[in-house]
Amino acid sequence: MLYKAKDKITKSYDTIIIGSGLAGMTAANRLAKLGRKVLLLEAHNKLGGFATWFYRANKKHVFDISLHGFPVGMKKTCRKYWNKEIADHIIQLKDVRFINPQYQIQSEFTREDFTKKLTENFKVSLEQVNAFYNYIEHMNFYDDQQMTNRELFEKFFPGRDDIVRFLMEPIVYANGSTLDDPAISYGIVFSNFMKKGVYTFKGGTDHLIKMMQDELLKNDVDIKKHAKINKIVIEQGRVTGVMLKDDFIPSKTVLSNANLKSTIFQMIGENEFSSEYIEKAKNVRLNSSSCQVYIGIKPGEKIDHIGDLIFTSSYPKFDTKALLAKNITSRTFSVYYPEGRPYDKTPKYAIVSSTNANWEDWANLSDEDYESEKETMIQETIKALENFIPDIRDKIDFIDAATPRTIKKYTHHQNGASFGTKFEGLEVSMNMHQELPGMFHAGSVGIIMSGWLGAANYGVIQANEVESYLYKNDQQHMQVLV
Ligand SMILES: Cc1cc2nc3c(=O)[nH]c(=O)nc-3n(C[C@H](O)[C@H](O)[C@H](O)COP(=O)(O)OP(=O)(O)OC[C@H]3O[C@@H](n4cnc5c(N)ncnc54)[C@H](O)[C@@H]3O)c2cc1C
Repeated sequence: MLYKAKDKITKSYDTIIIGSGLAGMTAANRLAKLGRKVLLLEAHNKLGGFATWFYRANKKHVFDISLHGFPVGMKKTCRKYWNKEIADHIIQLKDVRFINPQYQIQSEFTREDFTKKLTENFKVSLEQVNAFYNYIEHMNFYDDQQMTNRELFEKFFPGRDDIVRFLMEPIVYANGSTLDDPAISYGIVFSNFMKKGVYTFKGGTDHLIKMMQDELLKNDVDIKKHAKINKIVIEQGRVTGVMLKDDFIPSKTVLSNANLKSTIFQMIGENEFSSEYIEKAKNVRLNSSSCQVYIGIKPGEKIDHIGDLIFTSSYPKFDTKALLAKNITSRTFSVYYPEGRPYDKTPKYAIVSSTNANWEDWANLSDEDYESEKETMIQETIKALENFIPDIRDKIDFIDAATPRTIKKYTHHQNGASFGTKFEGLEVSMNMHQELPGMFHAGSVGIIMSGWLGAANYGVIQANEVESYLYKNDQQHMQVLV
């Protein structure tokens, strides 16, 4: 059932899931399908977490926040853990462009096409390209985690900054990774994309989340929005439920989809964990944040097809610091054409410009400076867009910007982190239930468990852990009764 904001919850549950990001929702659906009693609590007024959207001007404009592109694996995950209808809405984006001082390339973003570009445009031997792909495709979580991205590229393409940019820039944009991050995090994400290209959801995020909410309710998941949890209740070293304002809701297990650090340090408290675990948790670094400029095109106006995803940069070479810098030189434009939203009553064009960003650059600005910096970002984005659509100024009906502060405000992620934590967060997240019986975490950690596909898959992995815990619990209970 869908609880109303004022409803009191009087039931007890097998699992309470805090947060309805893609990991939280997918875990909820999986556990409900396994026959468990599940309550999904979401702080916001809608489900989805970062998989979200907003309307402006009486729904004249709609903007997707994080629907830029994900790997084909999402189709299989949705078919298996959601339903066929959702999976069938996943379609390929065929026109990905790269425009910077080192090269201008158009691609389908597949291994086949990238191989062609690497051999023909960048003049690398086919043998070398295949060696690189074979190496990254065989990487897995249990591999040596010492190699960095820098070392990976130096091994296969020594001294080739242009190739590093070509292979790495889209992934940096996608998840904020740097040359010093473990190569495994890059290798897995990049290989996932290279399998069959970049995909999107036809109908937009609003349509997807509506379909997911319907499926959750059909499978008897109880849902409450406007339900921010501040405390997870632990008794005698074991999870017993959560506090929703002043009300205790009992549950055998809790799965938190909220930020890893907030879960440990704010909702639970460090006293409930071993000092070794807390030390590791304290050392987990948050991922970087991002800025977006949202542009709605006047109804009735059209824009020519200029590509689906356009990675642009005016910076002379590849530089991860420059990609994050407040003085923006790199933008990725996602162009949303009406065909992508067939269910809307009126055709809609929108453009979203995304840029990686540092929390510190935005966090401490005075209100006045903040507004002025936002305006500068908007104006510079329009200027950059004029290179592709010269008359864009005449076509804009709505424009606004989001910053790391906006992300923090709406998702409660510390420092407005767009992709959770760095790689070391994964171990802390995965081991939470070993430390604290009944307490699980799933959500953007460690890059490979981030993004739409990573988060959804991590939800499944952790739901399986919850199920195995509940099963063992049930068995012990039966033995006591016998
Ligand atoms: C601007 C941007 C662009 C992106 N673009 C892409 C892209 O193109 N492709 C891609 O694959 N990925 C993209 N991502 C990343 C992707 O959207 C996320 O990695 C993924 O959606 C995260 O899912 P999650 O399950 O970790 O949860 P989140 O989305 O982080 O959701 C967590 C939920 O928990 C709720 N919550 C938190 N604390 C509490 C609490 N105390 N009580 C109750 N509820 C709480 C929050 O309100 C939120 O709804 C992008 C992210 C951003 C920010």
